[in-house]
Amino acid sequence: MSFRNAWHRESSTVTCIACGESVARSAAREYDKYGDRWDREDKSFEYLCKPCDRERCHSPREGLEDRLVESAVGTDSPEAFVARYLALAREAGSPVQEE
Ligand SMILES: [Zn+2]
Repeated sequence: MSFRNAWHRESSTVTCIACGESVARSAAREYDKYGDRWDREDKSFEYLCKPCDRERCHSPREGLEDRLVESAVGTDSPEAFVARYLALAREAGSPVQEE
């Protein structure tokens, strides 16, 4: 019985908040829009697939944090959150890349 096995058993898929792809949780990057990974109580984390995570790091995204927080206000499902985020991003003139 190893820690690694226990960890793998609970792995499942998560949805990338940027492109909507389902990716293995173990392959996804955890993204906490509040920037506070230590307080895990009552929180659900967002995830980014690796291509989106790379993109996020490489391109300057002015207002990204603001849009993410704004997108989350009043949304109770990941789908609603993503839809709102994309709408806000388009409004702000950021290219939303679909590959
Ligand atoms: Zn993605």
